[in-house]
Amino acid sequence: MAADPIVPEQTRSAFIAVIGAPNTGKSTFINRAVGTKVSIVSPKVQTTRTRVIGIVMADSSQLVFIDTPGIFQPSKRLDRAMVAAAWSGAEDADRLLLLIDAVRGIDDDTRRIVETLTERKLRCDVIINKTDAVRKPVLLQRAAEIDATGICDNVYMISALTGDGVNDLIETLAENAPDGPWMFPPDQVSDMPERQLAAEITREQLFRQLHQELPYATTVETESWQQRPDGSIAIDQVIFIERQSQRAIVLGKGGSRIKSLGTAARKELSELLECTVHLKLFVKVREKWGDDPERYGSWGLDFNA
Ligand code: GDP
Ligand code: MG
Repeated sequence: MAADPIVPEQTRSAFIAVIGAPNTGKSTFINRAVGTKVSIVSPKVQTTRTRVIGIVMADSSQLVFIDTPGIFQPSKRLDRAMVAAAWSGAEDADRLLLLIDAVRGIDDDTRRIVETLTERKLRCDVIINKTDAVRKPVLLQRAAEIDATGICDNVYMISALTGDGVNDLIETLAENAPDGPWMFPPDQVSDMPERQLAAEITREQLFRQLHQELPYATTVETESWQQRPDGSIAIDQVIFIERQSQRAIVLGKGGSRIKSLGTAARKELSELLECTVHLKLFVKVREKWGDDPERYGSWGLDFNA
């Protein structure tokens, strides 16, 4: 290969799947590692619906983190597809990181993951996340609980929120990455198309601003994306709901909710894209989108999981 000045002689690369119970901070960790938002985050469970990757360069290593939907006991079709996607991400990876919430410890969801790892003879590194939220004796107790499971090679402690411990973890992962070519250009941070990431940013606001079940009944698509001569970008998006009765909730009193959704999403998009963004949101009913095979394909999920 012709010598490219920025590619070192000996490169390393690793696919690293980040698994764990919902809300353990998988997406927060990957965004922190990448240094920009590639995956959306909210205090509600199951915010991440599809496989998202975040690419981190560290010395001569390229680390490709795979953010997976949380692994939990699935009931609905969409849930089953998300859990299947999480496991297939795990099995394709060079290395597995199991995130554990320091506050919750090994809860039922995590215990089920540990059982599955044991059954499939998979080993992992355990990351105890949210160290900022507990005291030291609790951390030591967590480490002992994890050690007792016998599935884990190394235990790391981080706070994805403050960044504490994240650089050390990345350095260690980089040193241990196998020799091999980089899988992506070194300046790339994700493989998600901008239009889809933009839709995800709006979906995050739905999770943050709407209550209870409604965010789970919505999906967002970017319908048009236009670069304007003045350097700004005009984006039109549709928020799909399942029933007409949900429209009033998304719009809010006198349109106040959709306005605040749009304002927050536009602000974030402007920061990410580093330009002025004009965002228009529309609300449409698409009945039973949760049972529509086409949607699953476009999210990279398997309808028949
Ligand atoms: P995921 O479902 O595993 O992807 O979890 P998210 O990344 O969406 O995070 C779930 C919640 O935990 C969000 O409210 C985050 O702000 C919070 N969180 C993530 N990492 C940390 C951390 O290190 N410390 C604290 N205190 N909260 C965190
Ligand atoms: Mg997530």
